[in-house]
Amino acid sequence: MTALHDLSVAALAAELRAKRVSAVETAQHFLARAAQHTARLGAPAAGASNGAFVALNEDATLAQARAADARLAAGTAGRLEGVPIAHKDIFVTRDFPTTAGSKMLSNYRSPFDATVVARLASEGMVTLGKLNCDEFAMGSGNENSAWSAVRNPWDASRIPGGSSGGSAAAVAARLTPAATGTDTGGSIRQPASFCGITGIKPTYGRASRYGMIAYASSLDQAGPMARSAEDCALLLSALCGPDPDRDSTSLDVPAEDFSRDLQRPIQGLRIGIPAEFFGDGLAADVRGPIEAALQALVDQGAVLVPLRLPRTELAIPVYYILAPAEASSNLSRFDGVKFGHRTKNPADLIDMYKKTRAEGFGDEVKRRIMIGTYVLSHGYYDAYYLQAQKIRRMIASDFQQAFTQCDVIAGPVAPTVAWKIGEKSDDPVANYLADIFTLPASLAGLPGLSLPCGLGAGGMPVGLQLIGNYLSEARLLNVAHQYQTATDWHTRQPGATA
Ligand code: GLN
Repeated sequence: MTALHDLSVAALAAELRAKRVSAVETAQHFLARAAQHTARLGAPAAGASNGAFVALNEDATLAQARAADARLAAGTAGRLEGVPIAHKDIFVTRDFPTTAGSKMLSNYRSPFDATVVARLASEGMVTLGKLNCDEFAMGSGNENSAWSAVRNPWDASRIPGGSSGGSAAAVAARLTPAATGTDTGGSIRQPASFCGITGIKPTYGRASRYGMIAYASSLDQAGPMARSAEDCALLLSALCGPDPDRDSTSLDVPAEDFSRDLQRPIQGLRIGIPAEFFGDGLAADVRGPIEAALQALVDQGAVLVPLRLPRTELAIPVYYILAPAEASSNLSRFDGVKFGHRTKNPADLIDMYKKTRAEGFGDEVKRRIMIGTYVLSHGYYDAYYLQAQKIRRMIASDFQQAFTQCDVIAGPVAPTVAWKIGEKSDDPVANYLADIFTLPASLAGLPGLSLPCGLGAGGMPVGLQLIGNYLSEARLLNVAHQYQTATDWHTRQPGATA
């Protein structure tokens, strides 16, 4: 039989249902692999570890697996019964610590599970552990984690992307068949692209934000990361759905079967090609695979429609005003009283706040709190925050205009392949600029998908981005699956798997 870690979510679920393997055996197999790839707080990833996992709890995982086996035996199994998943450490979990990649939460344990975690568990999924990420999901390379940086399984000297870098690295290295991620400005799509896996950020509001530690609430969305569109469709069907009592921004649309359109031919599909996504900033080694992927879609019957998204470049300043503004408000709760870290021996209450936050937050988080506080302050609010809100609205309108001409939009996920660890760590703006192609869909609240479509410089994966109109996830997954039926990029593996 194929090794368990080489099976897709769909295939593994079938093996478990047919009782050819038990959930406990499956969990043990993956736990043994995950244990070799853990990160330590504040230390470089040691030895051959890629630093993807920040928390394991073998007892809890095996207890979940035994419960899954009992349901399989009793005939009461969920659709994904016994299939392991690992969660980005931004989702709160009862059975595992939750740190959000921050010293601020180094000793935090949630009394409840995030809705997304609970939904996946109610389909029978077994939690393997928690995955490294940029601190409070702020970053593009996973270098802003208070744990170690994460190494890209394709080249250990490179970043895996961020902020869901641990999720992408763990799936690519086959330490887990599936992971959750969150995407505020690209954090599912960009690491998926950099690690050669598939990930989808659904329409804003599709997935509940309850128990997902807040970064920028008007942008934050959860989504699945796995090796194929077929697997992402299964996972997305499980994790989405309204959560009216707990997240008032969750959409009042019923959960869907996102696998329903996978087999649909893409004959006649109109793919919008925004000129702004193919400008000088796009590296030649990324452009090549993207153009080849578009040609492959044309060969399957799609039609390319050139169009404009004229405010693409403005997405960077707009996002880097709005996201920090929201973050400065969201992170005010970390004050040493309610959650996590508290400084020792403060002189008085104000001193306690100051020292707690100075000790608990990393540099990038502090930078964003300062930017956010500045753009929201009296006299600057109109000039920055309000102006950015107006341009955000225009960016959303540009997409609506584009979707009168096409069914989906395609382009690169990022301007380059994954860069070297340390290469941009002293240059926050260089990190921000690399987000140019993922930010527009985030600001508009649109669904976006990243799928592997080739290899660029250094043999590093390149991702194709598909952006759809609101609630068109099934279509995006359909297009991605059709591409993955005709090509094998999503089956390529990094050399450096354990
Ligand atoms: N790189 C972007 C940022 O640093 C996006 C992060 C995210 O989507 N969580 O904010």
